[in-house]
Amino acid sequence: MKIHEYQAKKLFSSYGIPVEQHILCHNVDEAVSAYEELNMEKVVLKAQVLTGGRGKAGGVKLVKCKADVMNYAASMFQMKINGLPVNKILVSEAVNIDSEFYLSFSIDRKNRSVVMMLSSEGGVEIEEVAKYTPENIYRINIDPFVGMPDYLARRIAFFLFDDMDLVGQIVQILQNLYQLFIENDASLAEINPLVLTKEGNLVAVDAKMTFDDNALYRQEDICFFSEPTEEEEIELQAKAKGFSYVHLTGDIGCMVNGAGLAMATMDLIKLNEGCPANFLDIGGSSNPKKISEAMRILLQDDRLKVILVNIFGGITRCDDVANGLLKAYEEMRADIPIVVRLTGTNEEEGRALLRNSNFLVAETMNEAIRKAVNQSIKAG
Ligand code: GDP
Ligand code: MN
Repeated sequence: MKIHEYQAKKLFSSYGIPVEQHILCHNVDEAVSAYEELNMEKVVLKAQVLTGGRGKAGGVKLVKCKADVMNYAASMFQMKINGLPVNKILVSEAVNIDSEFYLSFSIDRKNRSVVMMLSSEGGVEIEEVAKYTPENIYRINIDPFVGMPDYLARRIAFFLFDDMDLVGQIVQILQNLYQLFIENDASLAEINPLVLTKEGNLVAVDAKMTFDDNALYRQEDICFFSEPTEEEEIELQAKAKGFSYVHLTGDIGCMVNGAGLAMATMDLIKLNEGCPANFLDIGGSSNPKKISEAMRILLQDDRLKVILVNIFGGITRCDDVANGLLKAYEEMRADIPIVVRLTGTNEEEGRALLRNSNFLVAETMNEAIRKAVNQSIKAG
């Protein structure tokens, strides 16, 4: 789960990592009052969107007067960055930059540990530094049983500084950021740039954090930051009902039992030049309630031209599934065609139940997929 810069800065502050003064704004009026409240000549307006490349897209602007705050904030609220609307901006104190550094903690899967990266080249993408001047990146894997004791933080600090005051400042930042990372099950904590101001202070001017979704159950405070998109909202609903659901780009809604069969279904749809709208694995159950819950999740999606139900009956009985489908249909009355393929235990009985219904029944997987793709083309 990603969080916004302003949220990450809140965490930074509570862990004693210095950030510049900033105020979160939801509209132009708030931005203007924030400018007045900060009472500084220069401020930086920063779009809050959960995507990278914000600066390049015009989402970071240094402004010097009230009129400019108004103009730039107005245009920023109109912006879309990588398809995401800008609903919030930060008005922050403009710091006097002497130099910019890069600092991050992330997970190094290969070495099964946290990795710290520190670079004298901040403010640019770390991938660029890694490519052209890798010698400017200091990389060290952190032993989970050792963590970030003083001696280690100091050793790292000397990579950038020999001034003892700055060494002291960055040691604090290294230890606090590591603690924040570990205690909250983060998968990334990145400060780019970590700025040395002309006044001699280190300040986190940007803050990026990502958290491990699988640990969110024990991170209540972090969950509180969640701002799911519409698609993620549907995924969360499906997860709460015990389904695996992945949102995809096409128009064929899929309901399948078993991840392997679901993958094969996606492949065959693609092979037949159709495009799946989702991956929905309803698991082993043929409980009619589950079937109608799955149907309800699919029918929320107005991109769908057709639904394809592909069920392999093992322990799951096809006649149970057919009954579930009929019941779901009674409750919901989909206005798009639904193609059903049932195979395995009690398949004959299952198909017989659907024969005089609104469902389009197919016997083989190929037939079902061709039917579904044809329906999606027809609805074009
Ligand atoms: P990003 O492009 O989304 O990573 O946004 P950042 O918050 O990292 O800002 C991008 C760049 O804008 C920084 O690397 C700085 O060069 C510049 N910048 C950001 N904040 C300030 C500031 O307070 N003062 C000055 N002078 N420049 C800033
Ligand atoms: Mn940045």
